[in-house]
Amino acid sequence: MHIIQAHAIGFNKIIISSNDPSNFSIGNISIKNGTNPLSINSYTTTIENSFLIFLDREISIKFYCFIIYEGLQIKVSYKNLFTTEEFNNKFYYNGSLGLSYTKESSTFKVWSPAATSILVMLYKNGDPSTYEIPLELIMNEEDNGVWTITINEDLDNYFYTYKVTVYDSINEVVDPYAKAVGINGLRGAIVDINILNPDGWEEDISPALNHYTDAIIYETSIRDISMHPSSGVIHSGKYLGLTEEATLYNKSITTALSHIKELGITHLQIMPFYDFSYKSIDEKNSTEYNWGYDPQNYNVPEGSFSLNPYDPKCRILELKKMINTLHYNNISVNMDVVYNHVFHKNDNNFEKLFPGYYFRLKNDGSFANGSGCGNDTASEHKMMRKFIVDSVCYWAKEYHIDGFRFDLMGIHDICTMNSIYKSLSRINRKIMIYGEGWNLDTPLPHNIKAIQSNSFKMPNIGFFNDTIRDSIRGNVFSLSDKGFVSGKESLEDTMKFCVMACTISSNRFKAIYASPEQSINYVSCHDNNTLWDKLEISNLKDSIEDKKYMQKFANGIILTSQGVPFLHSGVEFCRTKEGIENSFSSPDSINSINYSRKADFIDIFNYYKGLIKIRKEHPAFRMYSAEHIKEHIEFLKELPKNTVAFILKNNANGDLWTNILIIYNANKFSTTINVPYNRWNLVANKYSAGTDIISIFESNKITVDSLCLNIFYCN
Ligand code: CA
Repeated sequence: MHIIQAHAIGFNKIIISSNDPSNFSIGNISIKNGTNPLSINSYTTTIENSFLIFLDREISIKFYCFIIYEGLQIKVSYKNLFTTEEFNNKFYYNGSLGLSYTKESSTFKVWSPAATSILVMLYKNGDPSTYEIPLELIMNEEDNGVWTITINEDLDNYFYTYKVTVYDSINEVVDPYAKAVGINGLRGAIVDINILNPDGWEEDISPALNHYTDAIIYETSIRDISMHPSSGVIHSGKYLGLTEEATLYNKSITTALSHIKELGITHLQIMPFYDFSYKSIDEKNSTEYNWGYDPQNYNVPEGSFSLNPYDPKCRILELKKMINTLHYNNISVNMDVVYNHVFHKNDNNFEKLFPGYYFRLKNDGSFANGSGCGNDTASEHKMMRKFIVDSVCYWAKEYHIDGFRFDLMGIHDICTMNSIYKSLSRINRKIMIYGEGWNLDTPLPHNIKAIQSNSFKMPNIGFFNDTIRDSIRGNVFSLSDKGFVSGKESLEDTMKFCVMACTISSNRFKAIYASPEQSINYVSCHDNNTLWDKLEISNLKDSIEDKKYMQKFANGIILTSQGVPFLHSGVEFCRTKEGIENSFSSPDSINSINYSRKADFIDIFNYYKGLIKIRKEHPAFRMYSAEHIKEHIEFLKELPKNTVAFILKNNANGDLWTNILIIYNANKFSTTINVPYNRWNLVANKYSAGTDIISIFESNKITVDSLCLNIFYCN
């Protein structure tokens, strides 16, 4: 018995591997491509256990290919063929795909070189549960696998799908390039996207950004930020909820948009708002909760956040109105995108259009599972890469999106991430690109994975910095683990490395990033416990007062470190999710932002607000190159244990303050440190933070309180 794998590596080349090559008789195999036999012209033995065979003619990928040997029938995998230049020369298509609509005509274009027939199905209704016989129109295939049809009529308000015959199955799919859909995203909708703009959209301008380090990112969800009754928002949990101004809790506590404005952040990172699966949230009755990390239609806004998900235009207009309002308030919008996997491959439009192409397969033919969802997408395949690039560019141009946060970016390849940067740069404004560069178990060579350890090959891409996260708060995977602010000792050197955005190598540390623009500094995000819940678990015996100081201190370090600060919504008033680490489908009672808690922890909110003000007004905290950091940061030496002190010196990054002294004291007692003699103006201590001077120290010794940070400056 021979175990055989067969991989096409060209249209007329197949590699066959056997576990018993000495007894393997290549003369005994036959090859079929669909019903057509293929003959072997010649073969060579290549690497161990493998034979490279040359066929007499080319394989047609419209049919599966099988090796028949000693009664076995082995399917030839095309996955390696799909990465060859030969394949790309023949089938890669660089033009626009999807629907081009005008009043006079509609042209549909869809790519599937594997399909043997594609029809456009036109419907009057967007809901498949309403019985209707569609109009079926035959599309024509061009040489490169693009199927196209132009219909010279005004199809406005129709819905459409494609009926694809591929490898003996007939699938009805939604156009992956669809820009609008009906209820639950099950049919594409034909709309004139060019006129679907709210009032004021023509004047909509994104706030300018010079460097990623000028951003202060705040992560929230459209639903969470306004769902709680305490928000006082009328359109709670909807796109329009973030357009309501001057909303208050208890007559004086700002909520939702007004809360975000008051805090002073610059970039709102919004959890998924592309159309996610109707199996997670039924748009007809969206009482269930889901974060939405299960993409369905990548280029369409989610329907459950709109007032009328049946009307394809509604979600588009309302999302644009939300973005317009945020921009008007000088807040940029970063979109959380999940191109690494889909809801389920079998339900997915890509897989139904061209099976085996858009998803990454292992050598044994099974689907790669680095994402944990069983269907990693194959960004290394050029048409998948093109889709991702086209999609982000579409969002940036059509919806004026200002940044993209890539979920599990480590599933993607470096070339894809750099292509995204290149294409977004052509839009002519600074657009942020960053993501989770975790090294996941997906079958992609290590040297081409978009992971943190390859950050130097992606100089314009940011990475969530888990070193600073775990050093400050403790490991996210070990509940009891503590960090610098919560009582773990011997972290002084690590904190120094982190303060410099992990960009400066030393005897102990090797730089993780080439530039501080690459370091997304955070202690908590939607994943894992909230900072407050983590402290409740790891510091059970500490008083609530001490935990509040730790809460201030933790993001105090984030906001005074070099790099790009990132705050998780509600961390500014000790948000709790009742210890639920993964609340992706927990009810609103767990996930929504409760503003009565803001009233309870208003001191924390005001502290964060003060630090944000300092950071925004003082470029010394926002240096954008490792060289600048090296030149302008000086750590004080011979300090007591569990303290870190440094000076941002000589008007760093053009700062008006000549020297800024920052002291972190993680001890539970006050401590005195030696500082260069000067007239030091204190602007942040354990209790308050801002740009006003709290007190003045003219001394070479400074005593600071326990569990806090202090900021001084001198001119
Ligand atoms: Ca949906």
